[in-house]
Amino acid sequence: MTVLKYDFKAEVKELLNVMIHSLYSHKEIFLRELISNASDAIDKSRYESLTDSRIIDAAGPWKIKIAADKEAGTLTVSDNGIGMTTEEIVKALGMIAHSGTTEFMNALREKDVMDRPELIGQFGVGFYSAFMVAEKVTVRTKKAGGGSKAVVWESTADGSFTVEESEKDTVGTDIVLHIKDEEKKYLDEWELRSIIKKYSDYIEYPIVMEVERERKDEKEGQAKVREEETINSGKAIWLKDKSAVPESDYHEFYRHVSHDYGDPAEVIHYRAEGTSEFVALLFIPAKSPLGILNRDFKIGPALYVKRVQIMDHCEQLIPEYLRFIKGVVDSSDLPLNVSREMLQNNRQIEIIRKNIVRKVLDTLADMKKNEFEKYVAFYKEFGRVLKEGIHYDFSRREQIADLLLFPSTKTGPGAFTTFQDYLGGMPAGQEDIYYLAATTYEEALRSPYIEAFRDKGYEVLIMLDEIDDIIMGGLFEYKGKKVKSVTKGDVSLDKTGDSDKEEAREKFEGLLRLIREELGDRVKEVRLSGRLKDSACCLVGEEGGLDPKMEKILQAMGQEVPRTQRILEINPAHPLIEAMRSIAERDRGLPILKEYIELLYGEAVLLEGSKPEDPSRLVQAVTKLMVENAGHLSK
Ligand code: ADP
Repeated sequence: MTVLKYDFKAEVKELLNVMIHSLYSHKEIFLRELISNASDAIDKSRYESLTDSRIIDAAGPWKIKIAADKEAGTLTVSDNGIGMTTEEIVKALGMIAHSGTTEFMNALREKDVMDRPELIGQFGVGFYSAFMVAEKVTVRTKKAGGGSKAVVWESTADGSFTVEESEKDTVGTDIVLHIKDEEKKYLDEWELRSIIKKYSDYIEYPIVMEVERERKDEKEGQAKVREEETINSGKAIWLKDKSAVPESDYHEFYRHVSHDYGDPAEVIHYRAEGTSEFVALLFIPAKSPLGILNRDFKIGPALYVKRVQIMDHCEQLIPEYLRFIKGVVDSSDLPLNVSREMLQNNRQIEIIRKNIVRKVLDTLADMKKNEFEKYVAFYKEFGRVLKEGIHYDFSRREQIADLLLFPSTKTGPGAFTTFQDYLGGMPAGQEDIYYLAATTYEEALRSPYIEAFRDKGYEVLIMLDEIDDIIMGGLFEYKGKKVKSVTKGDVSLDKTGDSDKEEAREKFEGLLRLIREELGDRVKEVRLSGRLKDSACCLVGEEGGLDPKMEKILQAMGQEVPRTQRILEINPAHPLIEAMRSIAERDRGLPILKEYIELLYGEAVLLEGSKPEDPSRLVQAVTKLMVENAGHLSK
């Protein structure tokens, strides 16, 4: 039989290198990872066996077996699950860099995982963790369902692996670890037993170990016998009564379903009865998994029907804006042979989904009310995702808006307020809720757009997420108050003094017209500003229009965005504007006035955070002015 040799894909090679040299202090997690894979393989087989009778016939009772052989120095993890074909094993263990692997390597470069080996558990790189304790790994596997030969995969993690067709009596997979000399403790029965108890007790299939025990024998007295003993308790944790589950078990199970290393922020465990009968065990993670903003991020808890796993991520069970939720939903109403297609518009699934959404949002609201600091930590990780719900879940947008946190002109950096608190602090006379989209808190505070608001004592919410502007456009109002961007629309904070305004408009009419002529279609309109206090000018958008920052993001995403014309607002109370007005009155054809207008516009473009369309023209105008001024000064 031919032995085929393959090189590991580059990312896998790199990953193996990390594993071999790992200083990780909890190397025992390798066993958890292998048992987890074995359990997944049995899940798959059990699911297939519902429709393929050959599988169940071949399999016998599901089980995972751990066998240590001290003489040979090997530890073997066996399962009678789905197994792999030659083609599958070549891909799964060597050629395909799972998205987890690539992300892991990126994190490695960024965060130096060598120093933070606890990250190892996070990335779904499970199998390779075997190389933390083994110098060589041999995998013997046979695919369930008949038809294919068994195959043996082997590697010493030196950059390549071999595969060879072989014989194997039973279907499923044996993973044989040739344990490194310095890791021999992993061959010790009591060590293994305690690792299994600690990390894998909740696995629903029996995890058995062959143990040697003294037995009384009728004829020969004491005798040593080898027998199989089940180590784990094995009851599906979500079916247990909440009061009977210690927190540590929940946390261990969370690690199993999430591939996270740490503890979850919140455990939600409940049983629904009535129109729909199901059990949900859901987790809100404490840390955002990598890739949560990627398109191919797998969303949804695992779906079980009467304890049989149907799929490990059921995206129909959860809206995208709650995609950080991990866990298990076990339904008693769905048919066992439910397929992905059937889930699409399934009424039962719809009911479960609604129920879960309500439960999760209520849990978050409670956390915000009772454990604000914990909520802030959650929000820093997942607020960006949660707020998408305002856009996509119209019926719940106000409930979700209640969960949002923002810094504001009153909070100081790094602190947060909420819409409720904002309303509570609104001074008499303020009618709307105001916000400013910005890149940093400091930039927002320096922004000319908030001058007048500050002056009046109005709080301005500061939105630092790039999608905020779109989200707020979708929210439109909160508890009957309009939510308005301070960079859009006509703001007149001063309701009194309309006659003064009329007067100012007349006074500046000539200058406004001149600027309009000079800038042409670069601006939509030129008008006097109601929002400026110390600055001379700014550009604003139309109410409901796109924010310039958002415009750029959409363009970067390859979307056609029509360039929206902005409105130039000038501050009649500013000495520069007043001076320009009086120059224009005397001689509106004076060339220097054109330069001023050019500069004024350039200033406004820079202030809104955009690039001037023609930087060299702006620079020329500035230089010319400097030369003139320097000329005066040097005389
Ligand atoms: P993950 O389990 O996160 O996908 P692993 O590196 O642990 O990553 O495993 C890679 C793949 O190898 C699995 O997705 C699965 O297809 C296959 N595999 C691993 N162990 C087994 C097993 N015991 N039985 C069948 N397939 C397995």
